[in-house]
Amino acid sequence: MDIINILQAQRNYFSTQQTKDISFRKECLKKLQKELIKREPAIIKALYDDFKKSEYEAVLTETSIVLSELKMTIDKLTSWAKPKSVLPSLLNFPSSAKIHKEPYGAVLVIAPWNYPHQLAFAPLIGAIAAGNTVVLKPSELTPNTSAITKQIIEAVFDKKQVAVIEGGVEVSTKLLAQRWDYIFFTGSVFVGKIVAKAAAEFLTPITLELGGKSPCIVDKTANIKLAAKRIVWGKFINGGQTCIAPDYLLIHASKKEEFVNYFKNELIKAYGENPETSTDFPRIVNLKNFNRLALMLENESFLTGGTTNKEDLFIAPTLIDEPSLNSEVMKGEIFGPILPVISYESEEEIDKLISKYDKPLAFYIFSTDKKITKKMIAKYSFGGGTINDTTVHFVNHRLPFGGVGESGIGSYHGKLTFETFSHSKGVVTKGNWLDLTIRYAPYTDKLKKLQALLKWT
Ligand code: NAD
Repeated sequence: MDIINILQAQRNYFSTQQTKDISFRKECLKKLQKELIKREPAIIKALYDDFKKSEYEAVLTETSIVLSELKMTIDKLTSWAKPKSVLPSLLNFPSSAKIHKEPYGAVLVIAPWNYPHQLAFAPLIGAIAAGNTVVLKPSELTPNTSAITKQIIEAVFDKKQVAVIEGGVEVSTKLLAQRWDYIFFTGSVFVGKIVAKAAAEFLTPITLELGGKSPCIVDKTANIKLAAKRIVWGKFINGGQTCIAPDYLLIHASKKEEFVNYFKNELIKAYGENPETSTDFPRIVNLKNFNRLALMLENESFLTGGTTNKEDLFIAPTLIDEPSLNSEVMKGEIFGPILPVISYESEEEIDKLISKYDKPLAFYIFSTDKKITKKMIAKYSFGGGTINDTTVHFVNHRLPFGGVGESGIGSYHGKLTFETFSHSKGVVTKGNWLDLTIRYAPYTDKLKKLQALLKWT
């Protein structure tokens, strides 16, 4: 079946109302759960084959997240999908009011390569739970994970309910030329704008989960040793190819030397003297990204790292010392295991640098001064963040995950994923036992009464 036929089949299927039945949705999710558990070893292998992601990181950052979102969705779906009563408006007296959740219809999910399992399945689960049909396009840059994704979906669903369409830009472009009822895109800002334009053609609602240049500030009151350890982890997990990884480091000048010493120590503890031989350090996903990152290393001085191996797509965990703000590494999102270190003396310097870029997806500050952290959190706009750690706000499914400004539109995780893929319909049920005459014409002599009533509402 080609794209148009699949979409048509999904529209026909959606109109049968079957996906609107909550117990049917739950059954689908349970079948998916069984298949995902059965295929976990194959998923882990695919992730290794794609970019040497270790088994530990595959479980921690991919399969366990998907399985926990899935379990929670199965457990909570009945309550999430129930119409919710809200207080009625006095102006409608007598009445009751409810919010009904309904599926949008045919949903398109486009996934990136960097967490190719998690970022495909997490939105997919929410879209199915909300009662939509789904076409999922995984990334062409992680072909092994894309293939296993297709196998899993085909083992559980008929194409008329959920289909995986593999391919690159050409396929994506064809998909985006169709009319969808919702598009959920995770990827770069550049492609996000292409998606937004395509969606605008049909006024299709969208979620855009994008990237950006996420700052990490370490002030002079911070626990420097712990900060170094936590930044090593958050920056180099997944080989630095994480949308919410700290992109650049702003460190108080008085603490730079101490920080760098601890950082080097922590790096050795995590990946050994030669990270290339560590089984825990992933590779860059392809040559194009390797070349892009290698260019950032040219003409820079390193506090640690800086070595590369093109054949193996390896880039060492690297600290660049005080790069120029016009350098390659400070131009856009790095998305690799390179961390520029920039020292500051005053808050104005922090401000100048952060304001140079659009609103970031993530924001990190290491400080024990509560006044400072409170001020910074209030001052800057960003998708989400953590005080005294990196990336961990991601794991709390009670927090919205998403960007703002150029780092994205909309958010998801937990209940919010279900809500993202549901339209909220407000419905008032009016009582017939009383019909207040105040709203009806003629309005003569009624304005004063209306104004008195409005005071109560
Ligand atoms: P990408 O934008 O290149 O690709 C994402 C998807 O879009 C892929 O499926 C790809 O096939 C498709 N695509 C690529 N070019 C296209 C085009 N011209 N037209 C239509 N579709 C196209 O992103 P990527 O390289 O896969 O991922 C890296 C980016 O994603 C980084 O910027 C990162 O910050 C961001 N990201 C964001 C999140 C988040 O949750 N906010 C998560 C992961 C990655």
